[in-house]
Amino acid sequence: MLNAFQQGAGCVSTTAAMTEADEQDVAAAILGPLVPGRVCGGCTACCLLLDVDEPDLQKPRDVLCVHCTGGGCSRYPDWPSICGRWFCAWRRIPSMPDFLRPDVLGVMFFLSIKPGDENVFARRCMMGIPLNGPEDLERPNVRAALGVFSRQVGLPVAVNVGGLTTLVHPSLEVARAILDPALAGEDAALAADAGRWRKAMRLDP
Ligand code: SF4
Ligand code: SF4
Repeated sequence: MLNAFQQGAGCVSTTAAMTEADEQDVAAAILGPLVPGRVCGGCTACCLLLDVDEPDLQKPRDVLCVHCTGGGCSRYPDWPSICGRWFCAWRRIPSMPDFLRPDVLGVMFFLSIKPGDENVFARRCMMGIPLNGPEDLERPNVRAALGVFSRQVGLPVAVNVGGLTTLVHPSLEVARAILDPALAGEDAALAADAGRWRKAMRLDP
């Protein structure tokens, strides 16, 4: 069984057991619609970082798409359908300022949906992938991004480095109490926090 807090590769694929309509509905319901007037500009982070296995586009993770010009897409507007429906968190959350755009921040955050995953934290979470290496995760503005997700999204947050996914929010203590409420013991605040998470993650009937 996978460790509750770490798991191997597979979290960054765009392929999921959901229909395209489901994906878009869930992303819009949780993060909201695309921010009006916000465009990718010179960012091409997702054209590099994502593992894509679609009928009209296949590429491995960490390999720049052959259609990327370095500052845009040579296929636009006749691009693969995935490119017109997949967007990172910055494109959907108005309160994320421009300095949290993935290429500026150094980390691409997005909604990761893996329904039915045995790791409950992986079923719906905000996933971050550093563009250059794990040192990107130490940048001060990453905390600003985590703050936005904590205040507004209410989902677990994880990072994926080199194919290894690690939960960064909530804390290990809270995560353990979410998995096993008995671990909160006499700590009423911890029990309440874990209970809120369990409700938000739909772990209780
Ligand atoms: S990572 Fe976000 S901002 Fe960057 S190109 Fe992809 S969708 Fe656009
Ligand atoms: S087709 Fe264009 S938008 Fe899609 S991944 Fe390739 S370069 Fe990026």
